[in-house]
Formats: sequence, structure tokens, C-alpha cells
Amino acid sequence: MQKHPGIAIAIIGAGPGGLTLARILHLAGIPATVFEREEHPLVRPQGGTLDLHEGSGLLAVQRAGLADAFQRIARYDDQGSRLLDMHGRVLFEQADASAGNRPEVDRTALRDMLLDALPAECVQWGCALRELKRRDDGGWHLAFDKGEAGPFDLVVGADGAWSNVRPLLSPYKPQYSGLTFIEFGIDDVDARHPALSRLVGRGKMDVQGDGKQVIAQRNGNAHIRGYAIFRVPADWAAGRFDFASPASVRSALLSEFAGYGDAITDLFRASNDPFVARPIYALPVGHCWTHRRGLTLLGDAAHLMSPFGGEGVNAAMRDAVELAALLVEERDWVSAVATYETQMFERVVDAAQGSAEAAAVQMSHIGEALSLAHLREHSAGGVSA
Ligand SMILES: Cc1cc2nc3c(=O)[nH]c(=O)nc-3n(C[C@H](O)[C@H](O)[C@H](O)COP(=O)(O)OP(=O)(O)OC[C@H]3O[C@@H](n4cnc5c(N)ncnc54)[C@H](O)[C@@H]3O)c2cc1C
Repeated sequence: MQKHPGIAIAIIGAGPGGLTLARILHLAGIPATVFEREEHPLVRPQGGTLDLHEGSGLLAVQRAGLADAFQRIARYDDQGSRLLDMHGRVLFEQADASAGNRPEVDRTALRDMLLDALPAECVQWGCALRELKRRDDGGWHLAFDKGEAGPFDLVVGADGAWSNVRPLLSPYKPQYSGLTFIEFGIDDVDARHPALSRLVGRGKMDVQGDGKQVIAQRNGNAHIRGYAIFRVPADWAAGRFDFASPASVRSALLSEFAGYGDAITDLFRASNDPFVARPIYALPVGHCWTHRRGLTLLGDAAHLMSPFGGEGVNAAMRDAVELAALLVEERDWVSAVATYETQMFERVVDAAQGSAEAAAVQMSHIGEALSLAHLREHSAGGVSA
């Protein structure tokens, strides 16, 4: 029988999944060390806004003992949805953007909340995992770009889409979904661009047509983050856009979206963040592996999905809840990890399938109609034009 007290746990990656696991274990008195490749917490903004769901992201916040702290960063008022046509005509608008229980939160605020709830020494920054070496005693030794650590009994790969832990468990690599996002961002939108502020509204705005799509979302601090979306080969954006020159990317986007009204394309004109290409990858639906002692995965490392289901961060945080609970409750930590894996493979299938199906129909000839039907069914108090 392998008892968990005393086992040395390494978590690779200080994303929402890894930090949630570390925090819940910490509350239970089980120490873990998080190794993160970024040099320090402020090295880059963590990205856009996320909505946390009951039964997963919000459940994790509760299990982490952070319900009050979360209320200070949650944006319940920004849950709105708008669907527009290419000329800016409103096809659907949610009547009350604060109705519903999927509060938005900025990624950086979520990460700060989790970091503040951990002892400072718990997260080791500037530790990019390069290699895991098996020791004769069954433990794992970690080799980073700079330095080494170990031995650890259990290594949890929470290191995202391009996990360096995953190849020890599974031969699968993420596959390109066919979709490439060009990210843009607008600061201080309410004061500087009131028309765009109204266009996006209190939540998310979606337009598709001409085989392309624009999604823009309100973040905290009057920031808009958006994506121009194309169904193209994986290397298309690198050949089409010169990302060293924001002016040339802007002009190329305006030409790609020439059939769209100015009300929409003004988003590109106003963008002041760097344009960034984000080709979207996913692991196969049903991705799983044979249990291997002392190693496991959670979050994107285990089940990378397209972002269309809005489930990725929620699934990662739910994984953390379940793995932590099993490690705390079960006397045998090896079987706790095996049970976590069996349950997780089953639990994420529907979300992964839904995300894959949603990605497949975006920008198709029925994409707009399907989005409209989805909003009518799922948005609180929607009003259609
Ligand atoms: C454009 C876009 C929009 C999205 N929008 C949404 C959304 O609206 N809602 C939603 O739920 N999800 C969304 N997602 C998905 C969401 O971002 C992920 O599902 C979520 O971040 C997964 O969390 P994670 O902790 O598993 O991994 P990550 O957030 O990827 O964190 C992994 C961490 O590991 C670190 N790391 C990586 N490699 C190493 C290494 N070798 N050594 C050490 N550290 C390492 C990284 O620096 C990072 O800090 C979106 C994704 C994209 C690309």
C-alpha cells in the first residue's frame, strides 16, 4: 500500500490547472512543487477572458477555498452574447448580460488569485522542463533548461498543449484543426472607441460570413480582445501576414474582410495590441493512455480542445479538483492516480466532442444559422432581430 503522506509531488506548469491542483493539495496539507518555464509571474499578460462554469471552474474555486477572493475578480456583468451579420446588423442579443452563472474572469487575475493563495516557494519560476529521467527506485528526476530537481514520486504534467510530459505516456500529438486565429486587442475602448464598445457590448460579439469570422470579447479594464478567424492551412498566416509590421497586418486583414461593413472592420483599425497568429490545435477526442506509475497529465496536456466549447480551462480545473480529492482521500496514491485517469478520460469526452463539432461547423454555409440556434437555446432572455 503506497500512502500519500510524504510522497514528493512535482507539477509541471503554473497554468490554471497546475495551480489549482497545488492550492487544493496545499489546503489538505500535501505539499507540491510547481515548476513553470516563465521567468516570473509578470513576464507576460496571461491572455483573454474566461468564463467559469458550475460543476467545474466554479467548483474548483470553492474547493480551493477562494470563493470570496473570486468574487472580487469575477465579472458577472460581462456574460452577454451578440450575433451580428457582416454589416453589423444585430441578429441576436442577450437581453441581460448579467443573467446567468458563468462569470467572466481575466486570466491574469485568475492566475494572480491562485498564486497569492500558495506559499511563495511553492512555484519555481524559470524552470522549463526538458527531460524526465526514471530512477532505479521508481522516482523521477527532472532536467530543466537550467538546472535539475528531484527525485519525485509523482510528476503531474499540467504543461499545456505542447506538454513535455505527455510523450512519456502517449504517442499522440495535437492535430491542426484547420482554423487559425489572428488575435488583436483594443485598450480603453469605452473612452476611446465608444462605437466599438457598444458593438461588442457586455460580453462576446460574433460575426461570420464570407467563409471567415470575427469574435471580440470584453475583458476587464475596458479592454477588448478579439480574433479574426480563417479556415486555412497551418502555415498560411506566416505567409500572408508580416507580423513585424502591425500596419501591414491591419491592411491585410482589411483586405481579407473587404465584404464586411466598417462597423466590424473598425475593430482591426482600432487594434493597438500586437497582432498574433494562433493556429488552433486539438488532441483526438477520446485521447487516453495506459497508466504509468508516477506520471499523469491534466488540462490541455491531457485533452487539448478547440476553444469553441469554452470548456478548456473548466476541464483543467475540474481535473485538478478530482486528482486532488483522490490523492487526499485514497490511502494508495498509485491507485488514486489510476482512478483519476480512468474517470477523467470518460468525463472529458463530451466536452472534447462538442468542441470538435463546434470547430467543424464554424464559418460553414450553416455556421451563422447554427450559432443563432445555439444562442436562442442557451442564452438567458435573448432577443432576436
Ligand atoms: C485563442 C484561445 C482562446 C481560448 N479561450 C478559452 C475560453 O474562452 N474558455 C476556456 O475555457 N478555454 C479557452 N481556451 C483554452 C484554455 O486557454 C486552456 O484550456 C487552459 O488554459 C488550459 O489550462 P492548463 O492549466 O491545462 O494549461 P495552460 O493554461 O496552457 O498552462 C500551462 C502552463 O505550463 C507552462 N509550461 C509549458 N511548457 C512547460 C515546460 N516545458 N516546463 C514548465 N512549464 C511549462 C506554461 O508556460 C503555462 O504556464 C482558449 C485557448 C486559446 C488558444
